[in-house]
Amino acid sequence: MNGEAPKSLRDALAFIAGYIETPLPPVRMALSAAFGHVLAEDIAASTSLPRFDNAAMDGFAIRSSDIGPDGTAVLRIVQTITAGQIVVPALCPGEAVRITTGAPVPPGADRIVVQEAAEIKGGEVRLRVRDGAKPHIRRVGEDVSRGDTLLEAGSRIGPGQMALLAALGLRSVLVAPRPKVALLSTGDELVDSPGSLAAGQVFDSNRPMLSHMLLAAGAAVTDLGMAHDDPEVILERLVEAAADHDLLISSGGASVGFADHLARVVSRRGFLEFWKLDMRPGKPVGFGDIDDCPILLLPGNPLAAAVGFALLGRAVLARLEGRPLNAGGLRLPVDRPLARSAGRIEVHLGRLRLDSRSRATAVEPLPYGGSASLRHLALADVMIVLEPGEGMIDAGENVDTLPVWQGFPG
Ligand code: AMP
Ligand code: MG
Repeated sequence: MNGEAPKSLRDALAFIAGYIETPLPPVRMALSAAFGHVLAEDIAASTSLPRFDNAAMDGFAIRSSDIGPDGTAVLRIVQTITAGQIVVPALCPGEAVRITTGAPVPPGADRIVVQEAAEIKGGEVRLRVRDGAKPHIRRVGEDVSRGDTLLEAGSRIGPGQMALLAALGLRSVLVAPRPKVALLSTGDELVDSPGSLAAGQVFDSNRPMLSHMLLAAGAAVTDLGMAHDDPEVILERLVEAAADHDLLISSGGASVGFADHLARVVSRRGFLEFWKLDMRPGKPVGFGDIDDCPILLLPGNPLAAAVGFALLGRAVLARLEGRPLNAGGLRLPVDRPLARSAGRIEVHLGRLRLDSRSRATAVEPLPYGGSASLRHLALADVMIVLEPGEGMIDAGENVDTLPVWQGFPG
């Protein structure tokens, strides 16, 4: 890069935003397959919703002019219209039509009287309409009017979006493909879980963690397994994966120890754009590319790897999918004071709590057990991201949070 390599998280995110200039080329996909994808087009309503005036309640469709001054009417029941019925004859004065919720309202009718206010006698119905009773008719276009912009490019198709697109009758949508991410754990001490361990070995917990964080963030994950701390082997695996992936993520070996090879490996074949940020945990994160495929170097320490992914990995995915950077965070009050650091971003884990006095959601910071600690990660709902600053954050003060587990953000 030109100029100084980023040292702060803010600069690193700005760098990533500029580095991945355009999202992945969009693809047209059947709506039924598009769940979880990010829209690459604005969606304007091709039709109004509801498409036709329909009954909001079960009852009788009538003409309001048939209601007497005492609020009652005795009307002839001329037919029954149920939801799905296509041919609907007009309603004449003195007539009522029995109708179910969702059924088209016959021309001439201007209100539905709920069945609880009806008494049927033979072929007639006696209705009592309260003063100020609602007409109980859902009018054409009262939810969505044709031409309205309903969803913008960059929004994720979750259950609500799916329902809306299905209601419009869309067959297909233009979306960003799921970013293809290859994930590699590095370290001589790692063993695939489950298995048996020799002294000095540990189970690889980063791959199960990161692959699920990736899936939850919308990526398609290739598991590259584990590599020993051997620069040739690591490079070979990464180069091979770079050919057909949108992002490489490694964990371990990202620091400055003599067995930490990642930064050198990336510099040898590609570019290391930044490395080591002013944050805790997660300082030894790096970003660069190998054969033009971006690569994120995450630390091996599990909490640091989780934080590095949440802060930077999700940002890379957001750029690849054409979403805003790191959406999905909330500002929430902490329920006890928290120290910040003057020179670096501090990330704490937190648990969401209902504050007993205010009945509002607050964050309970969990003890910081070091960058290798997994214990509190398993209890945490959010990461609390504290910008550098002097003094304490007081109880009740709002802090920035990111979800630990993110079911399709943004
Ligand atoms: P490193 O970043 O390679 O210096 O590793 C830092 C610490 O994280 C060491 O204690 C490693 O054993 C541990 N570690 C590295 N990779 C993993 C992994 N995939 N799963 C669990 N722990 C790991
Ligand atoms: Mg290592």
